[in-house]
Amino acid sequence: MARGIDTKCLHLEEEEGQNIHYGAISYPIYQTATYAHPGVGQSTGYDYSRLQNPTREQLEKVVASLENGIDALAFSSGMAAISLLMELFAPGDHLIVDADLYGGSIRLFSNVSAKNGISFSNVECYRESVESYINEHTKAIYIETPTNPMMNVTDIEALAKIAKKHGLLLIVDNTFLSPYFQNPLDLGADIVVHSGTKYLGGHNDTLAGFLVTNREDISERFRFLIKTTGAGLAPFDSWLILRGIKTLGIRMERAQKNAIEIAKWLQCQEAVTGVIYPGLPEHPGYEIMRKQARGFGAMITFRLKSKEFALAILEKVRMIKFAESLGGVETLITYPTTQTHADVPNEIREKNGITEETLRLSVGIEDVEDLLEELESVFHEKTN
Ligand SMILES: *Cc1c(COP(=O)(O)O)cnc(C)c1O
Repeated sequence: MARGIDTKCLHLEEEEGQNIHYGAISYPIYQTATYAHPGVGQSTGYDYSRLQNPTREQLEKVVASLENGIDALAFSSGMAAISLLMELFAPGDHLIVDADLYGGSIRLFSNVSAKNGISFSNVECYRESVESYINEHTKAIYIETPTNPMMNVTDIEALAKIAKKHGLLLIVDNTFLSPYFQNPLDLGADIVVHSGTKYLGGHNDTLAGFLVTNREDISERFRFLIKTTGAGLAPFDSWLILRGIKTLGIRMERAQKNAIEIAKWLQCQEAVTGVIYPGLPEHPGYEIMRKQARGFGAMITFRLKSKEFALAILEKVRMIKFAESLGGVETLITYPTTQTHADVPNEIREKNGITEETLRLSVGIEDVEDLLEELESVFHEKTN
């Protein structure tokens, strides 16, 4: 029987019963750039750490197992992973990308990949007919679900059918739910992207990124590209992410539990004009989430009655930190307009619904009573 995901976060089956690394329970950090050869034409299996390092390899095996992929590659950041992914494409190629994506991905596509001759159609994949955007140069569909920050939910299986029919790659950035709650490869995707900085690492202490695939040919190409371009994750950072992953399950469950309570609390506030959380039954993507994911995550986007009120909240929070990023044990609040989506052109940002009254919460694992108490005081403090 296949193992449960909590067990997979802790143990690699292939290692069991082997007394390797002197029995060390925590995987060793191989802090080395290069490796001595036993003889001419011989190798220990490792030649130079840009190509592979045992600590990074261990992390890659764990992430591949969590996403049910045949291979995972660990990068120095999520953006390094996505940049390498773009090397699969050639000048003249066309990609369909979700209209509401992480701001850094939009910046990469429109400023770097476009310069390399790749063109993009920004499509609201959760509601538009993706098929109508496909042309003879289209090579792939790239989505996030739920999206950042508008929480639009796309049916991965339905989109995978369209991708297969037209011979396109389906690429899913699974950062928001992590492999604990969603496995896009099982639903027909070809490549999964992660910012390991977020839930996989989980402690707001290091950057990382991943590409995972279940296709031999893509894995081979990725391996060639990572050794050639050199953005593989360093040994110590690999160890930090390995350690973070050990508690992925309990962190995700706790953060989600807190998020549901906070989403409900926000719904009751007079100053809040909208709460966008896919775990609320009234969210339009709720049923699809229930079908394709095992949870709803811990990201909440909400709108305030005015920009001034939104800014006042950012000024007043203390325990909750006004900071970019998400997916860590500490609760963070973000202002997408000037932070994560600052480089997205105004008209696209507004079309996507990212207004100046919009805030995003990444709910952490604090005692929910303390989070609610802080929100209570921030929302109802009688200043101005
Ligand atoms: C943060 C993030 C990225 C980029 O990852 P970095 O580790 O910050 O480079 C990509 N996609 C999503 C959805 C993200 O949240």
